[in-house]
Amino acid sequence: MLEFAKAGIYCPAGDFYIDPWYPVPRAIITHAHSDHARPGHSYYLAHEHSAAALRLRLGAHIDLRTVAYGQVFYKNGVKLSLHPAGHIWGAAQVRVEHRGQVWVVSGDYKLEADGMGPAFEPVRCHTFVTESTFGLPVFKWKPQAVVYQEINEWVVRNQAQGLSSVLLGYSLGKAQRLHRALDPSLGPVYGHGAIVNTHEALLAAGLDLPPLRPVTPALTKKELTGSLVLAPPSVQNSTWLNRFGPYAIGVASGWMNLRGNKRRQAADRGFVLSDHADWPDLLAAIAATGAERVLVTHGYTDIFSRFLREQGLDAQAVETLFEGEVADKEETKAEAPTPG
Ligand SMILES: [Zn+2]
Ligand SMILES: [Zn+2]
Repeated sequence: MLEFAKAGIYCPAGDFYIDPWYPVPRAIITHAHSDHARPGHSYYLAHEHSAAALRLRLGAHIDLRTVAYGQVFYKNGVKLSLHPAGHIWGAAQVRVEHRGQVWVVSGDYKLEADGMGPAFEPVRCHTFVTESTFGLPVFKWKPQAVVYQEINEWVVRNQAQGLSSVLLGYSLGKAQRLHRALDPSLGPVYGHGAIVNTHEALLAAGLDLPPLRPVTPALTKKELTGSLVLAPPSVQNSTWLNRFGPYAIGVASGWMNLRGNKRRQAADRGFVLSDHADWPDLLAAIAATGAERVLVTHGYTDIFSRFLREQGLDAQAVETLFEGEVADKEETKAEAPTPG
C-alpha cells in the first residue's frame, strides 16, 4: 500500500507522500523537523500543532491544511488519520487504511509523555514503519524527572561558582522541553535567536511556555553572569558564546548516553535526554501496534531489523534520507553569530 519511492514514502492509491524529501504535489508531514518537513511541496497536510513551526521554517505562504488527532480524512478513497507520536509538539503518526490493510508511519516518536501534548498513542496496524534512531540495547533513558533534577542541580552549582549555564538542545522540541524543566526560581532564562523565534511561534499557537528573554548585543557580561541560557548545538565553537563571561556548557541529547560524546562535543556536562524512544520503548511501541510486519527507517536500521526478525517478526530495513537526531539546519540559519 505504501512504497519507498525516490521522493519518499508514497501511497499510489491515494497519490500522496509522507515526509517526502523531494518536492511533490501532496505531502503529509509527521512533524516540523527539517529532515521530515522539506520545502517545495505544492500542498502540505499536518497536525494543527505543527502549523506554527512549519510556517516559521518553510514560509507563511505554504499551502497547508491541518487536522486534529484522530480526525478521519480521505485521499482518493484512502482513509487517513493522524495520531500522537509524543516526539515534539504536534508530531503525528500517520495511519493509512485501504482495502482492509492498515499501515502506520511513525515519523519520530517517544513514549514518555513530556506534558506538551498527548502521549504517544499505540495504533493497531498490519505494517508499522518505525524509526530506529536509538535502536541499540545500549540506549536506555532514565526517567526525565531525574534528568531534570540533574540539570537544575548543575545550574545551582554553576551559579555558586559565578558561571552562566549554557544548555544546548535542538531549537524545536528539545529547547521547549528543557525550558519547561528549568526551575523558575533559578532566575530568568535567556534564549538564542533560533530558540526565541521558535518559542514565539509556539507560544502564539497556544503552547504553554515560561517567559524567555532574547540574548541581545545590548546585554552586558555582568547582566549575563550566572544566567541560564538555552541555545542550539550549532553555537558550539562559535563566537556567539563570546558575549558571556565564564560559562559551563551542558548538552542534552540521547547521544550523551554514549561514552566519549561529551568530550567530543566539548561539553562540560552531558544530560541524557532524547525526544526519541530508547531501545525498550522502541520494542514496546512495536509490540503495542500488533503489527506482523515492521519496516525500519532512520537509525540503526540493519541491526534493529535483524533483532526484530530474531523475535519472529517480518522486519526489514528500508533506505530513507531521514537523518535521525542531528543538528537542524534551521538553527544555524536562524541567527548568524553576531559580534559582542
Ligand atoms: Zn524529529
Ligand atoms: Zn526524524
